[in-house]
Amino acid sequence: MELSDLAGLGIPVDEKKAEQLDRLADIILDWNTKINVTAIREKEEFVDKNVIDSLLLGRLPEFKTAERVLDMGTGGGFPGLPLAVVYPDKQFVLADAVAKKLRVVADTAEKLGLSNVSVVHGRAEDLGRDRSFRGSFPLVTSRAVANMSTLCEYCLPFVSEGGYFAAFKTEEQAEEIESAARALKLLKGSVARRESCGIEGSGHIFVVVKKLGPSPEKYPRKSGIPSKEPL
Ligand code: SAH
Repeated sequence: MELSDLAGLGIPVDEKKAEQLDRLADIILDWNTKINVTAIREKEEFVDKNVIDSLLLGRLPEFKTAERVLDMGTGGGFPGLPLAVVYPDKQFVLADAVAKKLRVVADTAEKLGLSNVSVVHGRAEDLGRDRSFRGSFPLVTSRAVANMSTLCEYCLPFVSEGGYFAAFKTEEQAEEIESAARALKLLKGSVARRESCGIEGSGHIFVVVKKLGPSPEKYPRKSGIPSKEPL
């Protein structure tokens, strides 16, 4: 798959945006020679596995209607940065526990002239208790951060009532997704559906969770507990 194929999936990548995404790849790969932000070092693979994969979220109706999106555990900016390039009218908050990765994200956003990106340093367990973030995002997303149960505890507290959490997962993770049923119930979420990412045979899926009501105050638990003792 190439950047130019995305328009066929309803993801509005024109020539100008494709150029910006290509620059995004160059900037991050350059950073990667100094700081380890991604395991992928080769450009074509980087565009495919990081840039294009991130943009597939743009197909979801829950993404289309959300004006503000939180990317929890963004690392080097995925999926948040490519989405911010393609959707300049939406606001993106990119959070991570590791400050040096966020410096790469902020530098890249600045070089690309993106005014719709803000970075937040902290752990999901702490940020999720912060009143300025809790319950305030119509859409939260996360890619390659934790198992589904842990991820629900990280992400659902941030979702506004009636909003959604969309996790990047693969078909092989079916069992892990099933075993998050208890976590979902406790955190007041419900799996709305699983959707193919749009590329046939890739095995990538989105698990879309709807927030039914406020998550109880005791969640997220203390830092480190959600991953050590998943609900
Ligand atoms: N989403 C990116 C990065 C995945 S690596 C991508 O798909 O490329 C996982 C990232 O999650 C790391 O950068 C790590 O610092 C972050 N992370 C893991 N646990 C976290 C937590 N509890 N709170 C915030 N960030 C976390």
